[in-house]
Amino acid sequence: MVTSRYDRQLKIEQIGEVGQANLEKANVLVIGVGGLGSYVSSELVKAGVGSITLVDFDQVELTNLHRQNLYTEADVENGLGKLEAMQEHLQAANSNVKINTIEQKYSSELINDQYQLVIDCTDNFPVKYQINHDCFEKNVPHIFATCAGNQGQAMFIRSTDDACLECLYPKQDIAKLGLSANIGTNPMIVAITGSLEASMALKFLTRPEKVVPGKLMVVDNWNFDFRKIRVHVSSKCPLHGGNN
Ligand SMILES: [Zn+2]
Repeated sequence: MVTSRYDRQLKIEQIGEVGQANLEKANVLVIGVGGLGSYVSSELVKAGVGSITLVDFDQVELTNLHRQNLYTEADVENGLGKLEAMQEHLQAANSNVKINTIEQKYSSELINDQYQLVIDCTDNFPVKYQINHDCFEKNVPHIFATCAGNQGQAMFIRSTDDACLECLYPKQDIAKLGLSANIGTNPMIVAITGSLEASMALKFLTRPEKVVPGKLMVVDNWNFDFRKIRVHVSSKCPLHGGNN
């Protein structure tokens, strides 16, 4: 008898054969294959997602390697683009998964309902707000995440009924959040935050009926705080009918 490569995850009661079959039919869009995107895509590909589309436009650089999973010194020496390198590494990890790449900066027309889920793995807040806006307009579920310093955050947004990024952080407050290039990035917070996004994705893609949105996960991997914070739709959110 041939044992399934997914044997260990099939034994997770909440996933099982039904969940795995759902995952193998799923089609997801991952925007950005830097720190978060490397972890998200490698974990979903190894878990056996049906099809994954990766969007990026950068080259692999030496300063990426401390926190961006799967990339190698050879990728840097060969001057590979992130998509080319990532597609090769991911396909080597699981040849069953269909891996598509789109080499461009983010634009709104990338979001459409052929994807069950969009996963924001960018490190750029204006782009995050645009992804949030586009997923809201097109009613496509998405996962927001960010990490900087020793702190990471992730939140699943299923539909327009749920609190969105602008409910969580009004746009005018983003200057207070800090950006990773300025304050540095603990490599392990990237792994944890990426794994949180992948975990949210795995649950939604295997057992969508079990997902409860409106919860922000906040992790600090220096003080070792893990928090789950309830987030409500804000009356000031412009997407949710407020006028800021
Ligand atoms: Zn909102």
